[in-house]
Amino acid sequence: MSYPEYHTIKDLSEALKKGEVSSVEVTKQYLERIESLDDKVKAYLHVDADAALREAREADDVIRRGEATPLTGIPLGIKDVLCVEGIPNTCGSKILQNYIPPYSATVIEKLRREHVVILGKLNMDEFAMGSSTENSRFQVTRNPWDLERIPGGSSGGSAAAVAGALCAGALGTDTGGSIRQPASLCGIVGMKPTYGTVSRFGLVAFASSLDQIGPMTRSVEDAALLLNVITGHDPKDSTSVPREYPDYTEGLEGGLQGLRVGIPKEYFIEGIDPEVEAHVKKAIQAMKDAGAEIVDISLPHTEYAIATYYIIATAEASSNLARYDGVRYGYRDKSAASLRDMYEKTRSEGFGTEVKRRIMLGTYVLSAGYYDAYYRKGQQVRTLIREDFKKAFEVCDVIATPTSPTPAFKIGEKTDDPLQMYLSDIFTISVNLAGLPGISVPCGWTKDNLPIGLQLIGNLFGEQAILRAARGYEQIFPAADRYPEIVGEN
Ligand code: GLN
Repeated sequence: MSYPEYHTIKDLSEALKKGEVSSVEVTKQYLERIESLDDKVKAYLHVDADAALREAREADDVIRRGEATPLTGIPLGIKDVLCVEGIPNTCGSKILQNYIPPYSATVIEKLRREHVVILGKLNMDEFAMGSSTENSRFQVTRNPWDLERIPGGSSGGSAAAVAGALCAGALGTDTGGSIRQPASLCGIVGMKPTYGTVSRFGLVAFASSLDQIGPMTRSVEDAALLLNVITGHDPKDSTSVPREYPDYTEGLEGGLQGLRVGIPKEYFIEGIDPEVEAHVKKAIQAMKDAGAEIVDISLPHTEYAIATYYIIATAEASSNLARYDGVRYGYRDKSAASLRDMYEKTRSEGFGTEVKRRIMLGTYVLSAGYYDAYYRKGQQVRTLIREDFKKAFEVCDVIATPTSPTPAFKIGEKTDDPLQMYLSDIFTISVNLAGLPGISVPCGWTKDNLPIGLQLIGNLFGEQAILRAARGYEQIFPAADRYPEIVGEN
């Protein structure tokens, strides 16, 4: 049995259950691929082969006892912002370079209960701030479809690892698009659930009112399988919502017949790459041909989304990142002569340029004289953006848009122009501001063989509607068995 014969979590899980292959064998194959290919892709910051094989052996015991669940024995990668007890958690930052968390995130505990195999931790933009993974302080992750290009960000390591079959699935986090945009640029499925659906306990905070953990996978069904495990109320996260959480695989095959798909006119704008626009429009037409009803809608406050996001997200980040002071944990400058000097040196050396930019912006918008003009105004506009969606969902079940205005760009192309980089998230950011669920599914490849993503947005707790729509579309345009050819792969 050789890779990629079993390529989705679902297929792998069935093969494991039937005894066609063991978790140890599958885990070894992934570890070998990582060994031979990851020096080119650079998706992983930390791989623990011994721990992975130990977990695989335990999973095989569970399978042998007939106690397997769909995720048992499945090798996964984890974005390096989710604490896994005992292994380093850097957040792509020098300030946390030597930090080993003494506890695991709730999502990790939940995965452990299913006996998954954790292969390692995946690269990301420092503290999840970025859209290309170039803000990692350790390495630049490459897009497996073209190693000269970025994988998107900030969950670029997770997207590249799934796309390059360096893990069967991964967890990412999404504050303004960081799951969906890299998923789109790497040709995989990425989903941000409704805010409050997945516990943020053990997720290192960037912007607490926007951050959400979600699955990055090769298929829609795989996303549902992961979602089934990671969702649920958690008393350790005060924003976690107590409610009944459904089985997300149910209703997946409901099809597109009768589904009302809203198309916001503000999302097909000047500046969008012509190939992206063409493929997304083709996808919408295909959904219509399959029985969906296409509805024109308007989200009039879209043009304020990026500005609003960069006020709220930076404000929250400046507060959340105040804890890295060199005292309690993480990096400390040892040369400082005084306490104040130590704070200054630790933070200047420990944080990279983009993180410092955000801390300064955030501190400014929260400062006494400017709070009303910026932060309060930002919160008010956020409400208007939320109202836009509320109104739109009166006439449609899901909203379809491009995920990213462009396909993957070249490494270095936007690093000198933060504003250009911020524009990468123009179609994903509103979803976080409104707290809604969104999913990106592959909908085409450019002439240069670069993936393009279709975003489907749902109403609050409308995960099942977007999963059903995404699954319906995936059947028209199956992408899971399309693999990039990583140079040197044999
Ligand atoms: N690119 C956006 C930012 O830099 C979104 C990041 C994210 O979703 N974590 O803030």
